[in-house]
Amino acid sequence: MSATPPAKPTTSPAQKALHKLGLTRDIDLALHLPLRYEDETRIVRLADAREGDTVQIEATVTACEVTFRPRRQLLVTVDDGSETCLLRFFSFYPSQQKALAVGARIRARGEVRGGFAGRTMMHPAFRVAGGELPTALTPVYPTVAGLPQAYLRRAVLGGLAHADLSDTLPPADLSGPRENLSEIDLQPLWGLRESLLFLHHPAPDVALATLEDHSHPAWQRLKAEELLAQQLSQLQAKRARALLRAPKLRARRDGLHEKLLAALPFALTKAQHRVSEEIARDLAQPVPMHRLLQGDVGSGKTVLAALAAAICIDAGWQCSLMVPTEILAEQHFRKLLGWLEPLLAPLGLRTAWLTGSQKAKERREMLALIASGEAALVIGTHAVIQDKVVFKNLALAIIDEQHRFGVAQRLALRGKANSAPGAVHGLAPTPTLPRTGEGESPEPHLLMMTATPIPRTLAMSYYADLEVSTLDELPPGRTPVITKLVHESRRDEVVQRIRAQLAQGRQVYWVCPLIEESEALDLVNATQTHAALSEALAGAGVDGLTGSGQPVMVGLLHSRMPAVEKKAVMAQFTSGRMAVLVSTTVIEVGVDVPNASLMVIEHAERFGLSQLHQLRGRVGRGAAASACVLLYSTGEAPRLGEVARARLKAMAETGDGFEIARRDLEIRGPGEFLGARQSGAPLLRFADLVQDADLLDWARELAPRMLDQYPDLAQKHVQRWLGGKSDYLKA
Ligand code: ADP
Ligand code: MG
Repeated sequence: MSATPPAKPTTSPAQKALHKLGLTRDIDLALHLPLRYEDETRIVRLADAREGDTVQIEATVTACEVTFRPRRQLLVTVDDGSETCLLRFFSFYPSQQKALAVGARIRARGEVRGGFAGRTMMHPAFRVAGGELPTALTPVYPTVAGLPQAYLRRAVLGGLAHADLSDTLPPADLSGPRENLSEIDLQPLWGLRESLLFLHHPAPDVALATLEDHSHPAWQRLKAEELLAQQLSQLQAKRARALLRAPKLRARRDGLHEKLLAALPFALTKAQHRVSEEIARDLAQPVPMHRLLQGDVGSGKTVLAALAAAICIDAGWQCSLMVPTEILAEQHFRKLLGWLEPLLAPLGLRTAWLTGSQKAKERREMLALIASGEAALVIGTHAVIQDKVVFKNLALAIIDEQHRFGVAQRLALRGKANSAPGAVHGLAPTPTLPRTGEGESPEPHLLMMTATPIPRTLAMSYYADLEVSTLDELPPGRTPVITKLVHESRRDEVVQRIRAQLAQGRQVYWVCPLIEESEALDLVNATQTHAALSEALAGAGVDGLTGSGQPVMVGLLHSRMPAVEKKAVMAQFTSGRMAVLVSTTVIEVGVDVPNASLMVIEHAERFGLSQLHQLRGRVGRGAAASACVLLYSTGEAPRLGEVARARLKAMAETGDGFEIARRDLEIRGPGEFLGARQSGAPLLRFADLVQDADLLDWARELAPRMLDQYPDLAQKHVQRWLGGKSDYLKA
């Protein structure tokens, strides 16, 4: 299947734009569906056109002049026998002016407006009158700069003509229950070719609403196809994985796992127990685990990572833990170290850590530890997946806050499993070699963790290839966080609140928003807030952490700071010496300071729900009653917009991460959740997970049957819809 160059085979800018849109094959073009349509099938009499209508007219030019007031413009009067209309052009070429000379008959299309000068059209599209009228609606395609509709239309026509549009759905009379189909009105099921020809060029009498809301049978067919392709490719990835070999990692009696459990300062919750067993069961299998652990902020995922690491290390293999930020890496490192180091040290095993900002010498040492296998546990940021990092025998890769990583990064980590099958690190506690298949290199087990719970519909579609474990219980002793919405004009009250918290020896976070246009502005904002708060809290005689009369220490943390400085600030806040931490969103994930009891989020209306929830999860980690203040701003407007209001209200109403995720999906669509899968992954273009839940059920039911009984059709179907992109689903 080659691309169809609609014009010349050279790479014109338009051609490049096509590629940018991912339209490289004939079938890609055929599946590039219109956003909307224009009706050019009719000529409307000017006298019949109402103000606001977009119409096509045929008329004769009766006047044509260029004026300069208020600015240079071309004014053309036309008359179609029923009425006159003024066409106004602010930019025009001499050739256009010529085509609009008095006496010319033209066909023009545009929106009719009223006004005291009579009817007008601004910048209508026009050409010479006459010629046949199209018999179908004219498609308007999604496009990018440099790719004119006319070019795209020709390209799509070419694609439609050349692409193989034969049906890939299994023949209707074959196998399995199909009752779903009739329920969802896929009967009579439109064919693919029929659907595509229709959607690209619908008859003018179609109910436009059914095209717009994608309820038309032709749309149903395409959405069903798309969902099926997604399910098939995920199932393929899952089955391909089942053929891979991974080291069997089993917890031993009196092994590290048991010792760690015994050493923990708390007992696992029921949910932690259950999930820990799910993970242990997977690790004991000779096929790579591919598990997503989702649990609300503060539900205690880290300890599960540590327990899994203990099993892995005990069996003589290396484990890596990758986290999105250095601050988090540092936190994890300290926490895990506290738990594991006392157990590892007697065995002569070490822990290594890798970050981007590390000194060259330290880094070299770490790399050597990792390559020799002396480092049984490696914790770090993206640095873990750089080419230079060679593991001796990686068997378990854990990714925390997985939604923050790109697909490519996750694929790279999986590629780190290495050469020598069955190799053990130098000082393994046990001489029993965990063997994998003969001669093949083992894949690492993969455990991904996320605090952004994935709503069920997403879990069933985008994450259908993953096993999912859920921590649905918080450790005991947490007090729910009270959330308050406060208008920014009441800042003073918030400062009062801060003082009250400080007086009780508590600590406070103040988060400044991400300003999308500019990181620099972000900084200014955070810096100003920092200065203002320092002043407001200074000399107030607060009985802060530092004791009566001492100045309150207000710290500042933002992404532009050098890593050492960030580390120092975090250390001060963690130790309790710093009472207030003003920060940009760098603290979003994972920071754990149980003494913090108040979280203020400025411009809360600019954050996503899930992000707000994550931020809020930074407080309420200890026994103290905690609160989250969502400071919102209405800008110039008297009130918050409806959507923003609904979102903030949802935050105040519920503390349940799943409920919030569900509402966020409703409000913002799936992009927010997919995070990593977003980039390069085949997102659904046509189907809507909420609206098309029954089509999704249908696809889920059909996919395994199709793979078993019609593997060729399945392959063809996936290839058609996803081309080379399905690889991404394996990450
Ligand atoms: P998250 O799931 O957000 O990553 P963490 O793993 O950081 O949560 O855990 C939050 C806090 O709860 C940590 O201080 C951790 O030590 C503590 N914790 C975890 N499990 C338990 C438990 N079963 N009982 C008490 N505290 C726990
Ligand atoms: Mg965490």
